[in-house]
Amino acid sequence: MYQLICRRCGRIEDVDRAVGETTCLGADDGSGFRIDEAEVTYWGLCPACAADRDASHRSTAQL
Ligand SMILES: [Zn+2]
Repeated sequence: MYQLICRRCGRIEDVDRAVGETTCLGADDGSGFRIDEAEVTYWGLCPACAADRDASHRSTAQL
């Protein structure tokens, strides 16, 4: 489970599958934990806010 959270408007998107090939379920390293779910949260800007930000701060640094 991945969550994308917009810092600006608070919009939350749940993503069931990994974006790209990164997976965090490889932690079966002898700790004894049987991991059945990993949740990763990405903070950033949703498309609408990113577009709005781009429009108003066209040449400033990225997040
Ligand atoms: Zn947003």
